[in-house]
Amino acid sequence: MTLEREATASVAEPDDAFRARLREFFAARHPGRAPKDPRERVAWTRAWLATLFDSGYAGPGWPREFGGMELSFAHQVIYHEEAARARVPGPLGTGLGIAAPTIITYGTQEQKQRWLAPMLRGDQVWAQGYSEPDAGSDLPSLRTSARRDGEEYVVNGQKVWTSHAGDADIFFALVRTGTIQSRQQGITYLVIDARAPGVEVRPLRDLTGGYLFAEVFFDDVRVPVANRIGAENGGWRLARTRLGHERSAGALNQAAMYRRVLTELEELARERGQLADPLVRDRFVDLEIRVRIIRYNAQRTIGDILARGQAGAASSISRLLITAFEQDIHEFAVDLLGPAGLLGKSAPQAVQRSRWLVGFLRTRASTIGAGTREIQLNTVAEQVLGLPHDPSMPAR
Ligand SMILES: Cc1cc2nc3c(=O)[nH]c(=O)nc-3n(C[C@H](O)[C@H](O)[C@H](O)COP(=O)(O)OP(=O)(O)OC[C@H]3O[C@@H](n4cnc5c(N)ncnc54)[C@H](O)[C@@H]3O)c2cc1C
Repeated sequence: MTLEREATASVAEPDDAFRARLREFFAARHPGRAPKDPRERVAWTRAWLATLFDSGYAGPGWPREFGGMELSFAHQVIYHEEAARARVPGPLGTGLGIAAPTIITYGTQEQKQRWLAPMLRGDQVWAQGYSEPDAGSDLPSLRTSARRDGEEYVVNGQKVWTSHAGDADIFFALVRTGTIQSRQQGITYLVIDARAPGVEVRPLRDLTGGYLFAEVFFDDVRVPVANRIGAENGGWRLARTRLGHERSAGALNQAAMYRRVLTELEELARERGQLADPLVRDRFVDLEIRVRIIRYNAQRTIGDILARGQAGAASSISRLLITAFEQDIHEFAVDLLGPAGLLGKSAPQAVQRSRWLVGFLRTRASTIGAGTREIQLNTVAEQVLGLPHDPSMPAR
């Protein structure tokens, strides 16, 4: 039996056997340490995604028809736990988590055949072009326009904060096909070739010195109408598509990662003789309680889905818990290390290659990207507590 058959024939497989098989696969095919050079790291991740796909271990929640494993939710949870345990590379770009569910749900058969397998295999990296200089939380204000010209759209405008734009082969973008006043009723979902004439990517340097995101400019970029997903002016509701409970399946994975990070910080404080300080102990106790709450919250989400088929209130607060935790743990680490914690990677006295400083700087953005903390709080207020809808935001 080929590996592909083994992987996709797993729906009825007992949990323990499935877990053991995954563990064996990840151990046998693990790609080793990530290269330091960002370009090499992208190539290394692409190679890993191809290995997963070719072996039948890619897309745990995806339909088999497009190269996925179509696992039950319980097996998806196991998959994510084992992937976290093995520390194998994650996805590349933002397409797998955001664009793929939209294509799977609303794409034509031709679009599914054209885009899904290359995205899953890492042959094509997809980046999300939604935000603009004057449209972030208030996305319906977006202005990048797409004018119909025969069997093409002509796109003009600017996106910003586009993660992975520098590595992207394809942008999935929200563009304006109606008037500005039409707000979310005049938005269309377009798939744009990142190398088409008129596309310009200008990298933005972030606090850590890296170039995770970029500005993207469109100057008379011609996009075939065949690249439109859904109807013209019907893009708004597509942008929020989720694939079953695929995201919730990974909730324990993040909880396990932060458990590991906290233990590593405790070890560092112990080595430095700081654990006897009552103020230090107090902060560790606080983080210990919170990392356990994150785990229990993830278990509640998964329990709700397994028992009732839908994620309950717990899932809405997980991002708030995690983003606050990751900011606080890195801030605490930098406090603990004192001046040494502020040294950059190249300094000989830098502690653990500056990982805590880099984490501190990087996690400043955690409460902004993918919806700010205030917007997440509004969501909890409305959807969990039943408070009135924020009048400045579009209706859900
Ligand atoms: C690391 C990172 C990666 C990103 N990657 C991408 C990407 O790949 N693709 C993409 O399209 N975008 C991306 N973004 C952009 C991100 O989605 C936006 O930054 C975010 O939606 C906020 O928009 P904004 O920056 O315009 O801030 P604004 O919306 O202008 O918000 C400014 C402040 O006002 C508050 N605010 C706004 N509206 C309300 C309200 N109704 N109630 C209460 N408070 C409010 C906000 O919370 C915030 O504090 C990324 C951002 C970051 C930081």
